[in-house]
Amino acid sequence: MDLLKSVSSLNRVGAAVAKKLNKIGIHTIGDLIYYFPFRYDDYQGVLTTKELKEGMMVSVRAKVELIANRRSFKTRKIMTEALISDDAGSLRIIWFNQPYVIKNIKPGDTFLFTGVVKTDMLGPQLIAPSYERVVDTENVLSAKLVPIYYLTAGLSQKYLRFIIKQSLADIQNLSDYLPTEILEEYDLLPLDLAIKGIHLPDSQNDLVNSQKRLKFDELFQIYLKTELSRQKRQQQKAPRVEFKESKIKELVKQLPFDLTKAQKLATWEILKDLEKASPMNRLLSGDVGSGKTVVAAVNMYCTVLNGFQSVMMAPTEILAKQHFESLKKLLGKNLNIALLTRSQFFGIVNNETIEFKKKDLINAICDGQFDIIIGTHALLSEKINLNKLALVVIDEQHRFGVQQRKLIKEKITGLDGLSAHFLSMTATPIPRSLALTIYGDLDLSVIDEMPVGRKAVTTRLVESFNRQKAYDFISEQVKKGRQAFVVCPLILPTNNLDNELGDQMVFFDSINEKKSVMKEYEFLSKQIFPNFKVGYLHGKMPSKEKDFVMQKFKNGELDILISTAVVEVGVDIPNASVMMIEGAERFGLAQLHQFRGRVGRASHQSYCLLFTTNEASGTTLDRLKFFEKNNSGFSLAEKDLETRGPGEVYGNTQSGQDTWKTAGPTDPELVKIARKSASNIVLKLEKYPFIIEKINDFIAGNHWE
Ligand code: ADP
Ligand code: MG
Repeated sequence: MDLLKSVSSLNRVGAAVAKKLNKIGIHTIGDLIYYFPFRYDDYQGVLTTKELKEGMMVSVRAKVELIANRRSFKTRKIMTEALISDDAGSLRIIWFNQPYVIKNIKPGDTFLFTGVVKTDMLGPQLIAPSYERVVDTENVLSAKLVPIYYLTAGLSQKYLRFIIKQSLADIQNLSDYLPTEILEEYDLLPLDLAIKGIHLPDSQNDLVNSQKRLKFDELFQIYLKTELSRQKRQQQKAPRVEFKESKIKELVKQLPFDLTKAQKLATWEILKDLEKASPMNRLLSGDVGSGKTVVAAVNMYCTVLNGFQSVMMAPTEILAKQHFESLKKLLGKNLNIALLTRSQFFGIVNNETIEFKKKDLINAICDGQFDIIIGTHALLSEKINLNKLALVVIDEQHRFGVQQRKLIKEKITGLDGLSAHFLSMTATPIPRSLALTIYGDLDLSVIDEMPVGRKAVTTRLVESFNRQKAYDFISEQVKKGRQAFVVCPLILPTNNLDNELGDQMVFFDSINEKKSVMKEYEFLSKQIFPNFKVGYLHGKMPSKEKDFVMQKFKNGELDILISTAVVEVGVDIPNASVMMIEGAERFGLAQLHQFRGRVGRASHQSYCLLFTTNEASGTTLDRLKFFEKNNSGFSLAEKDLETRGPGEVYGNTQSGQDTWKTAGPTDPELVKIARKSASNIVLKLEKYPFIIEKINDFIAGNHWE
């Protein structure tokens, strides 16, 4: 079976349809058979016309052949008689005194009839059944579970089923890359049966087994891939960074605060990794404000004490600057630190900050004059030799795309023949189960505790009639010297297409109520807060301008900042005490939590006020109420995962897994067996050429091949 063959090779797939199929990601036969239904209509209680017995209450799904009214000889009453048929045979129906039925039921259409069976000399008959038209199941009339696919304009369920069925015709020729011993060990269906079963399940049981096999495949391939990269990494050599105990203890003692237990543990885990001869690949995950920077700083310091260099990458100029300043405070007395971004060229030498010309700074860095180099991805485009590099720290790593992260690894090379240690940091809380899947080749350290004395941010879902009160409250806070954020889901009002929700561009529907940055800016700066300094920020502004506005807010030159989700990145503005979020229902809980983390970074009480587009109800209300009461990023992430699924929450940018064809790592038992089999197989992979081939394709991005 040739999975690479174009869908155009199928019957009744012309150029126009092929284009529509491409739109939903279907180019080849392989894409098509891996285009799984997202749900099934359940007709399992439905009988065929041959299964009926006297007196039963039944449902039958069948096509109407004939229907007509006539008058009874004896009673003179009107009777409606119909003949219906399914794959098993045909059946008579009769209604009394309901002549209008023939207006609703037309020959050729398919209906679900539910009524009582009565048998006469001619056989069984349905008496006065209720009826419900069934659309689009003509070609799956006998199916108990009818697959329903996501569609695009101009494609119908019926048509999609038709071409999928066509491409499944020789599915038995699909070779299975998994050997029978694995199938037997974990009780898995062969691939061809699973693919057939997910599209055209014979029974609930068949569906469950098919789904199990296909979910297993998806997880198994991910785990195998990560096992392989772990193996490869362990063969690489990295510079050994010795733990310099006394100096490190001295540094920790000098900090203006005590490290939390979680910070100490994470620091220790990283120090242990640095001592190894193979490169570290560790993710440090901790809520906003949990103090990841200092953990990184201690480890960078240790690296330098060993005579090596360290690089810290930040996703934005302003964050890079912020790190430069905090590292100056923490380490500036002892180390030389450089800052290189698109527009900033600074160095700290002997505890003094000096502005450099770009060329000079690059030369000085290449010359080995700096112990720590802080930069943005601008660093990647320069030709920089760091021949004593031992540790790379990537802050807010989820802000770097998969490609960028790859580039960092390729571009930033370590000592001769050695690879640097990598520490990634993220404030996106990731439930452990999921972290294993999407970050399987990373070891995980978690800071699950906040520094003492941090006040929880008071969070309130505000009803629209209290909006003015919220504005009054913001005024009070500003008069006290505090600052406020207002986050809106969009840049411009909805009739304009330049909208933004986080990183994604989204085109919203017609209701023009969703708050946009520009409209709110107009409104708030002129009508509500005419006496305050109000600024705005959104992702469409040139990054120089963004940084400029952010810096102004940081310096206290703005009282109120109206922004899109771009403000999410970890900039520290301790003086801000109010985070007001418009259209809160539009954001995931983890993202709302990131916003909330922008405030409450100093000793004063801070507030997070949520507004919804329409009055919140149902699940929206539940979610936001949960958020109101819950201050732990991890439980919010779990909730997100539960209500929105892994694809929605952690999708493409983070996992490198574009989409989940199946439900993803939601079934703990399956996660367990898929991991177990992957780690078993990896030890004797040479015995399984088909698996090797499959996994190479998977790594290359052709997940189904
Ligand atoms: P994040 O984990 O979000 O990157 P930061 O590293 O920026 O957090 O830390 C947030 C703030 O908390 C900083 O001002 C930092 O100095 C402070 N901080 C870090 N650790 C502690 C601690 N153990 N006790 C008190 N304050 C701390
Ligand atoms: Mg940070």
